[in-house]
Amino acid sequence: MRYDLHCHSTRSDGLLSPTEVVRRAAARGVDVLALTDHDETAGLDEARAAAEEAGIAFVTGAELSVSWEDITIHVVALRFDPAHEALLDGLQQIRGGRDRRARRIAESLSVAGIPGAYEGARRYVTSERLISRTHFARFLVEVGHVSEMKDVFSRYLTPGRPGYVAHAWASLEDAIGWIHAAGGQAVLAHPGRYKVTGTGLRRLLGEFRDYGGDALEVLSPSHQAAQVAQFAALARTHGLAASTGSDYHGPGESWLDLGDLPALPFGVDPVWKHW
Ligand code: AMP
Ligand code: MN
Ligand code: MN
Ligand code: MN
Repeated sequence: MRYDLHCHSTRSDGLLSPTEVVRRAAARGVDVLALTDHDETAGLDEARAAAEEAGIAFVTGAELSVSWEDITIHVVALRFDPAHEALLDGLQQIRGGRDRRARRIAESLSVAGIPGAYEGARRYVTSERLISRTHFARFLVEVGHVSEMKDVFSRYLTPGRPGYVAHAWASLEDAIGWIHAAGGQAVLAHPGRYKVTGTGLRRLLGEFRDYGGDALEVLSPSHQAAQVAQFAALARTHGLAASTGSDYHGPGESWLDLGDLPALPFGVDPVWKHW
C-alpha cells in the first residue's frame, strides 16, 4: 500500500484544486491520501468525493501552524471528524491572524525596497480564507527579485531577512488538544526543517509526546537519508508512531511528487497501524 499523508491544494498554498490533487495522486499509484491544507479543512469534502470517484482511500487532514518557544512548527492532523467544532474554531483562530501578518510582511518588504507586495501576493491567493508566505514567494519570483521559488525563502521571508515578521500561532497544547477532541491523530511535521539544536529537538519531541502527540513525520522531502534514520530512531525512543508525506504543493514547486516516498524504515510503527 502506498501512503501519502501530507499535501496541499488551492484551499491553502497549493497550485492544484483538491480534485486535481486527488486525481494526480491516484494516477501516480497512491492508495491512501490525506489532503493537509494549512490551517484549513475547506477542501476535504471535494477531495473525498474525488477520491471515491478515483477509487482510492481518503483520510481527512490539515496542517496546523504552531508557535513553540521562539520558532514556528507544523502539526499535521489526520483522520479527525471534519465537523468537530473545537477543531474548526481553532483553525479559524489560526487563519484569522494571517491577513494582519501579510500586511506586516508587505511593510517589511516595502522598507527593503519592494513595494506593492500585499497586492502582489494577493494575486496568487486562491482561497479568500488564507494568505501565506508562499503567495509572497510567487510574487517575489514574478517581479524578478529572485529567479526561483527555492531561493526566495533563503533571501526573504525567513528570520533575519526582509519580509519576515514574528507571528503568534496556536500553542502546541491547544493544537494537539483540538485534534484529539475531534478524534484525530497529531503528527509532528518535517522535524528536519526546524532550526533547533539537538537538545532543543529532544525537548520539542518530549513536549509533543507529553501533550499526547501521536507520530513523527519520518519521511518528508525535507529529510536526507541520514535524517530519516535519525527520526525513525527518535520516534521509537519517544514512543511515537511514524508518518510519511510528500508535502506536495504543485507542478514545478515541490521536491517530491505525490506518492514519491520510499517505505518507512524498519522497526517503526506506522501512524496507520490501527486504521
Ligand atoms: P506560512 O504558513 O504562511 O508561514 O507559509 C509557510 C509555507 O511556505 C510552507 O508551507 C511552504 O509551502 C513555504 N515554505 C516555507 N519555507 C520554505 C522553503 N525554505 N522553501 C520552499 N517553501 C517554503
Ligand atoms: Mn505550504
Ligand atoms: Mn509545513
Ligand atoms: Mn505542508
